[in-house]
Amino acid sequence: MAERVLVVGSGGREHALAWKLAQSTQIQQVLVAPGNAGTADCGKISNSEVSVSNHTILAQFCKDHHVGLVVVGPEVPLAAGIIDDLTAAGVPCFGPSAKAAQLEASKSFSKAFMERHGIPTARYGSFTNPQEACDYIRKAEFPALVVKASGLAAGKGVIVAGDQDEACQAVMDIMKDRAFGAAGETVVVEELLEGEEVSCLCFSDGSSVSPMPPAQDHKRLQDGDLGPNTGGMGAYCPTPQVSQELLQQIRETVLQKTVDGMKEEGIPYVGVLYAGLMLTKQGPKVLEFNCRFGDPECQVLLPLLKSDLYEVILNTMNGKLASNAPVWHQDSSAVTVVMASTGYPGSYKKGVEITGLSQVQDTGVQVFHAGTALKDGGVVSSGGRVLTVTAVRSSLETALKAANQGVAAVGFPGAVYRRDIGHRAITHLNQHRGLTYKD
Ligand code: AMP
Repeated sequence: MAERVLVVGSGGREHALAWKLAQSTQIQQVLVAPGNAGTADCGKISNSEVSVSNHTILAQFCKDHHVGLVVVGPEVPLAAGIIDDLTAAGVPCFGPSAKAAQLEASKSFSKAFMERHGIPTARYGSFTNPQEACDYIRKAEFPALVVKASGLAAGKGVIVAGDQDEACQAVMDIMKDRAFGAAGETVVVEELLEGEEVSCLCFSDGSSVSPMPPAQDHKRLQDGDLGPNTGGMGAYCPTPQVSQELLQQIRETVLQKTVDGMKEEGIPYVGVLYAGLMLTKQGPKVLEFNCRFGDPECQVLLPLLKSDLYEVILNTMNGKLASNAPVWHQDSSAVTVVMASTGYPGSYKKGVEITGLSQVQDTGVQVFHAGTALKDGGVVSSGGRVLTVTAVRSSLETALKAANQGVAAVGFPGAVYRRDIGHRAITHLNQHRGLTYKD
């Protein structure tokens, strides 16, 4: 029987999840709660107003509406135990348990876990007392300049300090002034790592891992990696900087080791595991784990997934990944460019009309909505990151060109976006071809 599935969340990641799930012949309907304008009424996809924070109401809704699978996009509901509660109520759902989601929700847990299992990461200290954190910063034999709120802080709880004074100030801001609220009751102080950052994700069925192609996010707001950190302004996949050999090394030393360690500790990890890595001179080291797809990485990964996502999820939930590895489109590259509101990541105006949405589809790109809403028959902005425009082509360069053409075709007043997504890969490719960036 064709299934009804429900996706929890409202961003570009969740639109991409719904879009990919809707392609499954086994799925009859995809509900998104709360969703956005892109998931409002689009073929098999529609929005649902069911509460996702009240797990009892959600479980009852799923039973009443014959929802056969719940797929959770963001980290907050995972850390709040949505998987545990729905599973206990007999509703099949995809994602890690609250205990397993601690890999993301508690940096002090994940650092201690990596230490216990010999997973490469920055040297660190974890503190509940600000004075002890500052003493550590002053006395460490390495530049202990990265200060992190241990808990979930919507990607904002990390301060990379310029010197020891700034690092100590960051400790005070987080612990005394509670800049990130309860998330900063414990801080992690870390060695500053240098290198290039990449995102390596995998599906994990609790025992086996199946790595996805490596991706790279662009955290800074402006071209040239300048300006403030954001939730992510664009991504591309695969990253030529990560060779097959390096990916194999990451699989063994990070992804499989993590899943083995979690199993050993009685907390099997089932879901998507995301390792944010720094490629240092000493090899790849973990900056952070996320317990779900990244946004915008999801918008370049899922268009490259050849397999039926619904089947991949079922195989992952049923411990059958080892014999059913997902298949990816080889020889294709995907690029996504995020279009954000003026002022983001600070305050911004909402309700700005978006135009060109139907024309842009004709340019062969896929628009994933994020902060959008329906108003008077049109689509308006309702968030900081408004849309992501994804193109899949035979090369990174052509995908980039197509994504940029898509961005030019869709628009809203004051749209902010980067024009240099993939610049590190292009530099890397040109170096390998003996060219300079300008060529
Ligand atoms: P996280 O949320 O832990 O990934 O940190 C957010 C961003 O801070 C990362 O994407 C890095 O750019 C930066 N960062 C985190 N930890 C370190 C580190 N140990 N050394 C250098 N940069 C870091």
